[in-house]
Amino acid sequence: MIKTDILIIGAGPTGLFTVFEAGLLKLKCHLIDALPQPGGQCSELYPKKPIYDIPGFPEILAGDLTSNLLEQGKQFEPGFTLGERAETIEKLEDDSFIVTTNKGTKHHAPIIAIAGGLGSFEPRKPQLEHIDKYEDNGLAYFIKDPEVYRDKKVVIAGGGDSALDWSIFLADVASEVTLVHRRNEFRGALDSVERAQELKLIGKINIITPAEITALHGKNHIEGVAVTKDGETQIIEADAFIPLFGLSPKLGPIGNWGLEIEKNAIKVDTLDYQTNIPGIYAIGDVNAYEGKLKLILCGFHEATLMCQSAYKRLNPGKKFVLKYTTVSGIDGFDGTRKESPKAVVKAIV
Ligand SMILES: Cc1cc2nc3c(=O)[nH]c(=O)nc-3n(C[C@H](O)[C@H](O)[C@H](O)COP(=O)(O)OP(=O)(O)OC[C@H]3O[C@@H](n4cnc5c(N)ncnc54)[C@H](O)[C@@H]3O)c2cc1C
Repeated sequence: MIKTDILIIGAGPTGLFTVFEAGLLKLKCHLIDALPQPGGQCSELYPKKPIYDIPGFPEILAGDLTSNLLEQGKQFEPGFTLGERAETIEKLEDDSFIVTTNKGTKHHAPIIAIAGGLGSFEPRKPQLEHIDKYEDNGLAYFIKDPEVYRDKKVVIAGGGDSALDWSIFLADVASEVTLVHRRNEFRGALDSVERAQELKLIGKINIITPAEITALHGKNHIEGVAVTKDGETQIIEADAFIPLFGLSPKLGPIGNWGLEIEKNAIKVDTLDYQTNIPGIYAIGDVNAYEGKLKLILCGFHEATLMCQSAYKRLNPGKKFVLKYTTVSGIDGFDGTRKESPKAVVKAIV
């Protein structure tokens, strides 16, 4: 059982900034995300795009914003459960909660902050018979650890950036990489398409287009995939099959947690972004209230107010005095201290 003060569901920019604001109040956070890496939409959908409306940054790449948020929160030692979807919630007698993921990991916290954005990103799955049987048995929709594929025969399907980038990366790790796409044209960055073409020419990647995966083979684990091109089917021996057809966001299981839902978003009050269930907050893109704007800076603001409310809930009756970080400095949970240089006090005689 993972125990924390605030359990954050969603490690997008809102969830990551919550770690910092909670840390200032000496509250510890743990984050769950269905994706294998933090950053939410910023890292999954547009890491190389510049954002122009983050206060204080005239221009910042979405991927760099994620790195900065991780760096800013690091001293408060957040925990992460990545690549797992928060599935069920149970309220205990003491008003705390247990959240269990689709992989069975249990988390216990008195405060839940849902920062789930557009919902959990679910992989688009190809329509193949018995596909469920092979999931986690050679078939993966994300690559969490490329080392798993060392010296293995890998078949990747898809025509976007992920399919290209991972084919290129795994060319130096796997013993054999085959990339299958239903069109001749790829929708990836030009340099990735060119690099894949080069690797094909020197025999480091097999590229089969226009073609489709039509069946999976293997007793209990992937042993081969059937590839159909121009009406003819061949079986390619494989230890792993990785379909990378993109992700679609779904509010998913959180929609069944008894929260008030409005147009696929969670209704909150605008005082502290609490939901209809006391102790459960919803911040960032996932919430709904009058005048809501789905912007990163709004998520940061909501996270800040939500942490204040969580602090009061956890410390009833305790007086809270807002202190500027420039004045009080920051005491990390890792023993580090950041503070601005002390003013020189000198007597005037
Ligand atoms: C192309 C593009 C450009 C954009 N440009 C800008 C811009 O210039 N400026 C701006 O302010 N905004 C921009 N946005 C919007 C901005 O990205 C979002 O407002 C922001 O990402 C919201 O952050 P979030 O943390 O609330 O949610 P998200 O970034 O969506 O993160 C939510 C995370 O929660 C996870 N999650 C959800 N449900 C579960 C569950 N049950 N279990 C586990 N994990 C779960 C998801 O996997 C996801 O990683 C842009 C968006 C796109 C798509």
